[in-house]
Amino acid sequence: MKAFEATRVFFDEAADQLELADDVRQLMLTPKREVQVQVPVLLDDDYIKTFIGYRVQHDNSRGPMKGGLRFHPAVDLDEVRALAALMTWKTAVANLPYGGAKGGITVNPAELTSKQLEMLTRVFVDQIHDVFGPRTDIPAPDMGTDAMVMAWIRNQWEKYHGFNPACVTGKPVEHYGAVGREEATGRGVGILTLKLLGRLGRKPPGTRLAIQGFGNVGSHAAKFLADADMTIVAVSDISGAYHCPTGLDIHDCLRYAMSQGTLQGYQNGDMISNNELLALDVDILIPAAIGDVIHAKNVGQIRAPIIIEAANRPVDPEADKVLYEQGVIVLPDILANAGGVTVSYFEWAQNLQLYKWNLNRVRQELDHILSDAFEAVWQCANDSQTSLRTAAYMVAIERVHRAKSLAGML
Ligand code: NAD
Repeated sequence: MKAFEATRVFFDEAADQLELADDVRQLMLTPKREVQVQVPVLLDDDYIKTFIGYRVQHDNSRGPMKGGLRFHPAVDLDEVRALAALMTWKTAVANLPYGGAKGGITVNPAELTSKQLEMLTRVFVDQIHDVFGPRTDIPAPDMGTDAMVMAWIRNQWEKYHGFNPACVTGKPVEHYGAVGREEATGRGVGILTLKLLGRLGRKPPGTRLAIQGFGNVGSHAAKFLADADMTIVAVSDISGAYHCPTGLDIHDCLRYAMSQGTLQGYQNGDMISNNELLALDVDILIPAAIGDVIHAKNVGQIRAPIIIEAANRPVDPEADKVLYEQGVIVLPDILANAGGVTVSYFEWAQNLQLYKWNLNRVRQELDHILSDAFEAVWQCANDSQTSLRTAAYMVAIERVHRAKSLAGML
């Protein structure tokens, strides 16, 4: 199933519960605008490579559109369109004053030098600077992009439009970034995992978990949950998975990954495959890497009774149905990884006021927003006897629908 079709399945399950009419569904699903551009970069003295870049702006009924920018070889229009729609539902679940968008370039950033990556980013901004900005659509980091890339985006955008750091979030702290933005998505995954455990009447000590992906999101989630006394028995990245049944020393893994840039060669754990990690007998499984890692073919091997979707779209609709029937609790991506966009919102709000918050305030406000979002979804799931995913979509769709109605768009 293609990416956008998959997000539509989840949307329709909630829309059925809400008895939403077909024409309204079509309106809510159709992106406002899709932009595809060529991004030519001079790789050597005499070789121009033409990359393709995308920005999909899905919906702005609740505010300016917001969403990350992904540099990855698997980026295509369908995937960006799906991720843009997810952003609309995510900002609505978190009740942030935003709509949803997403962008990306089909590229393997590991194959480019830093200079080439900077060129690629700047040329992309040259191509799309007039369709994004502080009051229309605000990009942020996603897979393959980081604070440095956001600083290049700001610098290039400001050449056309003048000083306005609110044009992009996830910037370095020295460049009007928010303290706590880098950790925010992983920290949010941690906060929500604890909330879910609390609701299920379980305590963190003795809870065993496995995390796939040790980039920005996975590594910060791992740190937060290890510090909360959970036992992390496996972590992984593209190089493979590293397993220790009695629990890995996460701070040691972090030091290693930081110094090497990867977990490859990590010795203080047995090496297993990423597929074996997904099938481990743990209490909680956290996919925090790429989409579609749990699907019809491997869902039978999943043994964890709880899955926290730190990545976007890690569970496809077929697998999701099987997991629900088996009683597996899935905390859906549009809630589980909303911590990143929440602190991006704080960064944007600070930039608009040219004012700075301290880390304590950022963390407190993050906890507050995610708690409210979790409670709204938990309540809706109980009231309507649905999965947490369907409930999260119901909360989001109702909020977007109401915004459209109040604005006279329906
Ligand atoms: P990242 O690029 O920092 O890290 C990705 C990690 O996944 C790396 O450890 C990489 O080695 C690993 N990986 C890549 N391909 C893999 C594979 N085939 N098998 C196993 N591991 C693999 O990216 P990130 O920012 O941590 O994003 C991870 C996920 O979280 C993505 O789905 C992204 O859309 C989602 N997300 C990120 C943010 C954010 O703020 N960064 C916010 C919301 C959602």
